[in-house]
Amino acid sequence: MPTVLVVTGPSGAGKGTLIRELVERVPEIEVTVSATTRERRRGEEDGREYWFLSDDDFLERVGRDEFLEHVEYVSGHRYGTLRSELERIARRGHVPLLELETAGALRVKGEVPGAVTIFISARVEELERRLRERATESTGEIGERIALARKQLEQEGEFDYVIENDDLERAVGELTALVRGLLDTTATMPRR
Ligand code: ADP
Ligand code: 5GP
Repeated sequence: MPTVLVVTGPSGAGKGTLIRELVERVPEIEVTVSATTRERRRGEEDGREYWFLSDDDFLERVGRDEFLEHVEYVSGHRYGTLRSELERIARRGHVPLLELETAGALRVKGEVPGAVTIFISARVEELERRLRERATESTGEIGERIALARKQLEQEGEFDYVIENDDLERAVGELTALVRGLLDTTATMPRR
């Protein structure tokens, strides 16, 4: 059994979309709510998508060692996983699922015994097209996210599993089968 599941990959790969589909199919997992200093997008709620914190509040919590991991992402925005989230989910008897950019994912892989990391991949031209269509960031920030995505795609091999999200339905099926297999301790899934 994995202690935590980590879903990672470049912006626009479809991590959020795939996770929303996964949690409907696998009730044993529960997604951690990260903290961030970025602006809230239309439709997002504090405590649901993220805990939206000021820079000062975030840094105070870093000082109190409240984060399992935290990073500064593009445009100086900070993101981090609060240890309290893992405790909350474990108390409910669920397996925590973390959606992280690649640096945070590698840190969790190195520091949390039993963590399993899943990289969601897509072609860079497709990432750019999706981010422009999603239209939740400025043109400048989309450029920054794409430049970072090129580097992140090169790190694919450092993660336990890779799922190509070209066809959404196929990717949902593959991710669901993988996670069900990981949770079923009697199953043997080959690691790459
Ligand atoms: P991430 O969380 O990795 O940044 P999202 O889940 O927000 O990515 O997906 C980015 C955009 O791409 C969204 O608008 C989403 O609807 C779309 N999308 C996700 N998967 C696919 C896919 N397989 N084919 C086409 N569009 C997709
Ligand atoms: P977005 O602004 O699109 O919601 O997220 C930007 C990036 O930050 C995504 O790649 C997302 O996976 C990552 N992210 C979200 N929460 C965390 C977190 O708690 N820690 C780390 N390291 N990355 C996070």
